[in-house]
Amino acid sequence: MAKTTPLTRMAERLLHLPVPGGAKIMEVCGSHTVAIRRFGVQRLLPAGVKLVSGPGCPVCVTPDLFIDEAVALARQGVIVASFGDMLRVPGSRSSLERERAAGGDIRAVYSPLDALRLAEDSGRETVFLAVGFETTAPAIAVAALLAVEKKLANFSLLTSLRLVPPALKALVSESSGLAGFLLPGHVSAIIGRQAYGFLAASRLPGVIAGFHAEDIISSLGLLLEMHNKGIYEIVNNYRRVVRDEGNERSRSVLAEVFTPSDAEWRGLGSIPASGLVLRPAFAALDARQRFTIHADSAPRRKGCRCGDVLRGLIDPPACPLFNRSCRPDHPVGPCMVSSEGSCSAWVTYG
Ligand code: SF4
Repeated sequence: MAKTTPLTRMAERLLHLPVPGGAKIMEVCGSHTVAIRRFGVQRLLPAGVKLVSGPGCPVCVTPDLFIDEAVALARQGVIVASFGDMLRVPGSRSSLERERAAGGDIRAVYSPLDALRLAEDSGRETVFLAVGFETTAPAIAVAALLAVEKKLANFSLLTSLRLVPPALKALVSESSGLAGFLLPGHVSAIIGRQAYGFLAASRLPGVIAGFHAEDIISSLGLLLEMHNKGIYEIVNNYRRVVRDEGNERSRSVLAEVFTPSDAEWRGLGSIPASGLVLRPAFAALDARQRFTIHADSAPRRKGCRCGDVLRGLIDPPACPLFNRSCRPDHPVGPCMVSSEGSCSAWVTYG
């Protein structure tokens, strides 16, 4: 007889939780998408409950035009430094991987400080691709401050930073039929529980969750219980990492270097105040001001429904290319390129 553990009891409770009328829940974070499928949490959902992925994978929401800009910079002979997963993302005509094969100086780095060092050591123009959410942005802000302090004249940023709450607001306002959100643990460590007050005001509950199986299962249970009872609160279920007030120091470094601006999201279009751009005092670090970048948007690639996946409108297998012409070893769209992309997670973990 199989031994029962606290985890199996928790899983049983979730599986048998009655949810009258069903519910559609969105997990916002790409790391949650991967963890859910790796642990098979989707098989523990009560009858009528559907879990969909949201716009929480930074590579996936970055529009083609940004890759096109990076490609255009690489063709000008500057060093383009980026987190590795951006290299395979197809732009409208090329990718950084293809540019590297064609002789472009593209470097994969682990942190913006590596890119800063690259600029110092090489003495050449070095552009770091500043992509990510509230989690990644503070380290990029620190790199910008260091570049100024060191009077480094050959380092700049091509920014495509995004903020999670405005994207959630946009999703909520388009009445997507969502009953609640599994909220991102890492982003919440910076912005805190307070940042999601607008969800409760829209009569939607949310639970900030960690990334272990028990974190996710217990958070889904809490979320569905609130949904059943008509309680619209934000619960912090990841207290070992997330403080309700978030990380004020990180937010103040961010505010010193960046300011919010309207930004384009793949699948969601332009969302007011959902991006971060460099403040005027840091204009010298802005690659768009330092270089003339000619990058025209090409027509959208045919067949890829990554945008619908990111809005929770379809599951990846509903895309006609899924696991046929679009596979992790031959990705057509960004949701298959990134290891945190929903399409990739569905193929990898089933
Ligand atoms: S399977 Fe590929 S082509 Fe289809 S939505 Fe996902 S990334 Fe796009």
